[in-house]
Amino acid sequence: MALIVQKYGGTSVGSIERIKNVARRIVATKRRGNQVVAVLSAMAGETDRLLALAEELEDDSGHINEREMDVLVSTGEQVSIALMSMAIGTMGEKACSFLGHQVQILTDDAYTQARIEQIDPERINEALTNGYIVVIAGFQGIDRSGNITTLGRGGSDTSAVAVATALQADLCEIYTDVDGIYTTDPNICHQARKLSRISYDEMLELSSQGAKVLQIRSVEFAKKYGIPLHVRSSFSDDEGTVVCQEDELMEKAVVSGVAANKNEAKITIHGIPDQPGIASAIFSSIADQGIVVDMIIQNISEEGLTDLTFTVPENDYQRSLSIIGEICRKIGGKTVLGDDKIAKVSIVGIGMRTHANVASRMFSALARENINIMMISTSEIKVSCVIAEKYTELAVRVLHEEFQLDKDPECKE
Ligand code: ADP
Ligand code: ASP
Ligand code: MG
Repeated sequence: MALIVQKYGGTSVGSIERIKNVARRIVATKRRGNQVVAVLSAMAGETDRLLALAEELEDDSGHINEREMDVLVSTGEQVSIALMSMAIGTMGEKACSFLGHQVQILTDDAYTQARIEQIDPERINEALTNGYIVVIAGFQGIDRSGNITTLGRGGSDTSAVAVATALQADLCEIYTDVDGIYTTDPNICHQARKLSRISYDEMLELSSQGAKVLQIRSVEFAKKYGIPLHVRSSFSDDEGTVVCQEDELMEKAVVSGVAANKNEAKITIHGIPDQPGIASAIFSSIADQGIVVDMIIQNISEEGLTDLTFTVPENDYQRSLSIIGEICRKIGGKTVLGDDKIAKVSIVGIGMRTHANVASRMFSALARENINIMMISTSEIKVSCVIAEKYTELAVRVLHEEFQLDKDPECKE
């Protein structure tokens, strides 16, 4: 008998019909002789709806009570797990739903972005031993003071991997609305090709550069504990993609994927004194507010003055602008400019470690389409460019074509 953790995303449980479809799959897995734990997202659109309600109550500086935000947005999953357990019950199997606090999904106290620290497998194991299918609310946990927390957008992926780790499950399957990990978002580029396997490291980069198919923390968790993830569709029985340790079965592509992220904004401070301590003053004031800065560029100084440009998540844009406006006055900077109509496009591949000219091919491909590059950053297995948001889809398609990602690497010229 195997213990299988299956995660179903919002689209997969987006209506009663779809909940019944998933319930049938879960029941079939149990009837093949397995123990099943299902981790669910809220029904499609529900988390967005709840967030929009809270947004109407934001104060002028964009602030909202984050503790209450988590109490609010965690309700979406309560609905889907209850409905799923009912649906499974109508099919003749016993099911029991649990919220995060009921199975002690213990997190830190960073509301809206909490990290899972520990899960107590006892109650889940007990229910499984008693023949129940266990249905757990994804995305939520509880901190050490008993407050409800949530794990950030897409957090149910991480809940599932953490539950699989705590239970030492034999298999962790992530069911979604596409049938695997593709060379790029198949909803943007129809030439995108499904990969049969992808390494944790490549998936980490794709997720962190905007491929929302897996939340980045779920991949970090899976990598840390060596749990292979099988990403597949809840609407078909096709084999999906296995995310696992790099091995010889993997494609030896220089570039294996393209990702895009429209949820960033860029801020430039002009004419700041080029002196020790200035960057520290700017970035600590941002970090103190829990805002995560991604790319940073500082220009060469002229006459003792320099410019600094950096990107922040779009959600934190207004807050960052007001913090930076204040710090700019304090340090005697000239002006602050912002732009939230930007996107970051990235190419990712472990083969880049050993190949030159990958970045230059990326820049030339964008230039041929007259797409201006505003910022660049690189790592060992990734190159990212910030461009105007309106060119995002075009850039993704152009890069996909440039690196011939629609073709099996064995067949490329
Ligand atoms: P779920 O609700 O099941 O968690 P998400 O919407 O969070 O699903 O993630 C699935 C979506 O991720 C797909 O519909 C697709 O548009 C997007 N996506 C982005 N990049 C990729 C990629 N490289 N491969 C597959 N899907 C991707
Ligand atoms: N419901 C949450 C969200 O929409 C978590 C998830 O679906 O993974 O982000
Ligand atoms: Mg998701």
